[in-house]
Amino acid sequence: TTRKRILTGDRPTGKLHLGHYVGSLRNRLKFQDEYECFFIVADLHMLTTKPDKESILLIADNARQIIMDHLAIGIDPNKVTFYLQSAVHEVYELQLLISSLVTVERLQQLPTIKDMANAAGLEQIPYNLLGYPVLQAADILMPRANLVPVGKDNESHVELSRQIARRFNNAYGEVFPEPDPFVQGGTLVGTDGQAKMSKSLDNAIFLSDDAKTVTRRVMSMYTDPARVRADIPGTVEGNPVFAYHDMFNPNVAEVEDLKARYRQGRVGDVEVKEKLAEALNNFLEPMRERRAYYEAQTGFVDELLFNGTQHMRDEAKQTMIEVKKAMGLTGVWHRISRAAEKRAKKERIEA
Ligand code: ATP
Ligand code: MG
Repeated sequence: TTRKRILTGDRPTGKLHLGHYVGSLRNRLKFQDEYECFFIVADLHMLTTKPDKESILLIADNARQIIMDHLAIGIDPNKVTFYLQSAVHEVYELQLLISSLVTVERLQQLPTIKDMANAAGLEQIPYNLLGYPVLQAADILMPRANLVPVGKDNESHVELSRQIARRFNNAYGEVFPEPDPFVQGGTLVGTDGQAKMSKSLDNAIFLSDDAKTVTRRVMSMYTDPARVRADIPGTVEGNPVFAYHDMFNPNVAEVEDLKARYRQGRVGDVEVKEKLAEALNNFLEPMRERRAYYEAQTGFVDELLFNGTQHMRDEAKQTMIEVKKAMGLTGVWHRISRAAEKRAKKERIEA
C-alpha cells in the first residue's frame, strides 16, 4: 500500500477514560481509514517514571485493557497494528544509534522532562527520562511514520524527531521521512472541576464504566458551587456538567434549554445531571456492546497484540537493515566475519 503511516499510542498505566477519548482516541477512528496505523503500547516509556516491579507486572493487563478500549470505541482490529514496544528489540538498538544526533543540552531544554519528573515526584532526573524523547524518536522512525498525533505538550518531541531524521539522512544517507506532528486539541475537565480528567486524580469516567457507575459519578459531579438552591441563577461557563453536555449530548435543543433555565434559576442540578447521565450512557452503550462482543472471544486481544507485534518486528528488521547499511555498520561486521571465515577455512585445510 502507499498509504501514509501514523505512529501513536499510550503508556500501559491503566484503562482509558473520556479524557483520552476527547484528547486522542476519537481521532484514531478517522485515522484507521486514511492511514496505515501503528498503535504502540509504550511500556518502555512507562519505565521512565514507573520502573518498579509492581508496575511492570501490571503491563500485560493494562495493555489488554487499552486495546479493548480501542476495539470498544470502534477501532477495527483488521485495519490497525497494535504492538508491544518492549518486545520489539530493534527499538532499543535504534534509540542508541540515533543518540549521537542529539545533545544533552537540547534534551535538558525541553520543558516536558522537568514536568514529568515533577508529576512523578522525582527529585533527580533518571537517564532514561532525559532520553525519553530520543526513545520516542526511535518509535516514530522505526515504522518510518509520516504523521504523529500528539498533545500540545508533546509537539516539541516530534520536532526533535524531525531533527534527528534530518541529521541521520544528512550524515549517513536517506532512510527516514521527516514526521509531521498532528496536534490534537481539547482537554476534558475532570468530574471534580479540576482542569484535566486524569485517573490518578480520581476524577475520571472510564470508557469501561457500567451505566450505574457513570450515573453515580455524574450525580456527584462538581458544578456551580454558588448555586445552593435550584432557584438561584447558575453559571454555565466553566461548569464541567455543561462542558460534558456540550461534548457528549447530541441533543443540542435539550442542552440549550437546560443552559437557559440554569442561567435563570429555573432548573435543578439533579435534572441537568440526570440528562447528562442519560446522554453519556447513550454515548457509551455501543462501546459496551462492542466490548462484550470481543470479551466473549477469549484471548482475542492477546492474539491481536501478538500478531501486531510480529508485524512490527518485521518492519523493524527491515528498517534496521537499512539503518546499519547506511551507517556502514553492516560493512564493518562483514569485513570482520569474512576475514574470520577465511582464516577458519585455512585452519581446516591445514589440519
Ligand atoms: P495518569 O493519571 O497516570 O497521568 P491520565 O489519566 O492523566 O493518567 P495520561 O496517561 O497522562 O492519562 O494521558 C496520556 C495522554 O492522553 C495525554 O498526553 C493526552 O494526550 C491524553 N489525555 C489524558 N487525559 C486527558 C484529558 N483529560 N483531556 C484530553 N486529553 C487527555
Ligand atoms: Mg496524566
